[in-house]
Amino acid sequence: MPRPAAFALLATVTSIAAACGHQSKVLSPYASPYGVRRTDQGFAIVRDELHRGVDLGRLSPGEPVRAAAPGVVVRVEESRLSGVRVDVRHASGHVTGYVHLAWSAVARGDVVARGEMLGEIGLFPASAQVIHLHLELHCARARGDCPDDGPLAGTLDPMRFMVGCHDPARTYPDEPLALTMPIDC
Ligand SMILES: [Zn+2]
Repeated sequence: MPRPAAFALLATVTSIAAACGHQSKVLSPYASPYGVRRTDQGFAIVRDELHRGVDLGRLSPGEPVRAAAPGVVVRVEESRLSGVRVDVRHASGHVTGYVHLAWSAVARGDVVARGEMLGEIGLFPASAQVIHLHLELHCARARGDCPDDGPLAGTLDPMRFMVGCHDPARTYPDEPLALTMPIDC
């Protein structure tokens, strides 16, 4: 059911922005949810597709993308179509993936702190109407919290674990996976 999913995401995003105490980019109309999303293709063609992450925007090229939790960089990859992708593995075993970067400020094997800059947003994908960060959360199979079949297998909705905007002065809950917004908000 795409509509409730979208509303739930908006509610989460709104409460995060309220916790941050100011309006933010994450309140943008361009916050495409995880899971089934309805895409208006124009000419009255509407189709449902499965989205393995969440899109956060609307951003400008060059805006920093930050680690949502402490971890180790396990993948840095470049694609002509979708830009640079950086994956960070966290102590819980979960991996966050950051897609559509222009370049990476980190390399495989780097240890990153929460809020550390991973790179900057680029102009990807070329077909995107709005510049955004595509954020994925890959689950820790050992923890048993992982859907293991279907097109969303191996992923979770990152918004479920989002505890707010990153503030270096703040301490964050000692939860297995407490994520802060990977974009400035
Ligand atoms: Zn996306």
